[in-house]
Amino acid sequence: MNTLSVSIVTPNGEAYSAKEASMVVLGTTSGQVGVMANHVPMVASLKVGPLKVVFPDGREEYLAVSEGFVETHKGEVTIIVQTAELDKDIDVERARRALQRAEERLAKKENGLDVRRAELALAKACARLKVSEK
Ligand code: ATP
Repeated sequence: MNTLSVSIVTPNGEAYSAKEASMVVLGTTSGQVGVMANHVPMVASLKVGPLKVVFPDGREEYLAVSEGFVETHKGEVTIIVQTAELDKDIDVERARRALQRAEERLAKKENGLDVRRAELALAKACARLKVSEK
C-alpha cells in the first residue's frame, strides 16, 4: 500500500509529522477532503477545524488546526497553518475560557468589535474542544 508523508508547519516550526499515513482528512474551504497517496496534486485553503490522520493499522490521530493551506504532491501532504495542536496537547480549560470570551463578545456586539476576529477565536476554541473529545 502506498503511504503518505504528512507535515504540519506553523510559524513556530514543524508541529507534526508522520511518515506512513494512509489518509489525511481535512476541511478545506470547498469542503471536506480525504487525501490518499494517489491524490491528484492539489493546493487548497483550510478552514479552522479538526484534522484526522489515518494509519494503515487503523490508528487515527486528531489535531485542531487554524486557517492555512494544504499542498499535496506525490505522496507528500504539507499543511501550513498558524496553529496546530494534537488532541493530547490541548488545554481543555483554556479552550473553554476562549470559547466563553468569544461568545460573550459576539453576544454583546460592543462598538468597535472585530467580528471576524471574535468568530475566528470561537471557531478555534470549538475545534480544540471537538478534538480534545476524540
Ligand atoms: P487563547 O485566547 O486561549 O490564547 P487563542 O485562540 O488566542 O487562545 P492562538 O493565538 O490560536 O490562541 O494560539 C497561540 C498559541 O497557543 C499556539 O501555539 C497554540 O497552539 C496554543 N494554544 C492556544 N489555545 C490552546 C489550547 N486550548 N491548548 C493548547 N494550546 C493552545
